[in-house]
Amino acid sequence: MKTKILLDEDQMPRQWYNILPDLPSPLDPPLHPGTGKPLVPDDLKPIFPMELIRQEMSDRKFIGIPSEVRDILLLWRPTPLFRAHRLEKHLGTPAHIYYKYEGVSPPGSHKPNTAVAQAYYNMKEGIQRIATETGAGQWGSALAFATQLFGLACTIYMVRSSYAQKPYRKSMMQVWGAECIPSPSTRTKAGQAVLERDPQTTGSLGIAISEAVEDAATHPDTNYSLGSVLNHVCLHQTVIGQECREQLASVDEYPDVVIGCVGGGSNFAGISFPFAGDKLKGKRKDLDIIAVEPASCPTLTKGLYTYDYGDVAGLTPLLKMFTLGHDFVPPSIHAGGLRYHGDSPIVSRLVHDGVMRAVSYHQSEVFDAAQTFARTEGIIVAPETSHAVKAAIDEALACRRNGQTKTILFNCSGHGNFDMSAYDAYYAGQLVDYEYPDKLIREALSRIPRVPGT
Ligand SMILES: *Cc1c(COP(=O)(O)O)cnc(C)c1O
Repeated sequence: MKTKILLDEDQMPRQWYNILPDLPSPLDPPLHPGTGKPLVPDDLKPIFPMELIRQEMSDRKFIGIPSEVRDILLLWRPTPLFRAHRLEKHLGTPAHIYYKYEGVSPPGSHKPNTAVAQAYYNMKEGIQRIATETGAGQWGSALAFATQLFGLACTIYMVRSSYAQKPYRKSMMQVWGAECIPSPSTRTKAGQAVLERDPQTTGSLGIAISEAVEDAATHPDTNYSLGSVLNHVCLHQTVIGQECREQLASVDEYPDVVIGCVGGGSNFAGISFPFAGDKLKGKRKDLDIIAVEPASCPTLTKGLYTYDYGDVAGLTPLLKMFTLGHDFVPPSIHAGGLRYHGDSPIVSRLVHDGVMRAVSYHQSEVFDAAQTFARTEGIIVAPETSHAVKAAIDEALACRRNGQTKTILFNCSGHGNFDMSAYDAYYAGQLVDYEYPDKLIREALSRIPRVPGT
């Protein structure tokens, strides 16, 4: 029985899988933040390259990966799929547990899968600089890595609490030639407004997005780039699930359960969409697809499915998604990459329609799971990833109780080698399990914009 299931370089996918045409009905369109009318491609042109706008709304099932992008992805792809023999034995479960390891990329997560594609299309369309936000620092380091490969400058607004917690992520961005600024900052009007209201704010992804969008919108040579949530980002991540399908087929397996952690939904989309496509076509009706989120930022499990902004200032289009309200500032947990008030509109729709389901966990229990994983399989996972590990362990334990031999697949979205301060806090007994008060969630939800006809 194999431990490591590998593909050859020429088995790396040549196309991205677009789930949009396989949805039973079209997604509700994004709306213009000013007029409330459905967006047209021209609305996005000031901040995105045309090709990404096309991909965002495409009805083609497969979109070719440009060879310049493939050449760079080949630096670490195809990524390994592991059978977690030692974890299975430790749990005493009859289940087969597999994990796809995206931590082998240079920045250490799945994020460069889309960063490289986005930097490429911006370069092709003559853009000189990209502005973006980063929470835990993984997206910032992935985009810094990708932009310097294509000779673009990069400005990164990093959520202030993470900037203090994760100094080495900032150092990586510097090595890869990017400028990293703690957010909220005084560089933008959006940042200045937040600082006036609350000078001690820990910042949030929603605020940092406002800053980066404003920077891009006010500089003609600069575009904006988003590391999650949007359809084209989910699209670029589907190399993960497509590889998993090949790898599992090579050992005569197909998953019964597919699991991923969810911040904005991109790594979860990446591993699950190719399998969700099978389910939507009626081929695998029993497939259980599980999105895992923190109890302190319970977007899919406690949010509303409605139109909301992607950022605090209301500069982004309105997206139909699960949301906790665009001005929701989640507690500063260690899984910084999961602190976002909204979620991918596609993932939201699939959860809303029951094609996928969502669960939430507290941070101390996910760190217990991460420790178990490190002591059996060896990899010290990112705090974000530990949510998926926890769900996989729970599924495997349920199999032990019920005597089921399910095949469980989860996405090991990144390593935690730069997150050791979070592990230190865990061992010092300093992790707080925030159950975000329902009252605060209800208040934030009451400030969601009212859109006529929805
Ligand atoms: C950013 C990040 C996440 C969360 O983002 P998604 O878009 O939901 O995937 C999860 N895991 C790791 C390692 C990350 O860097």
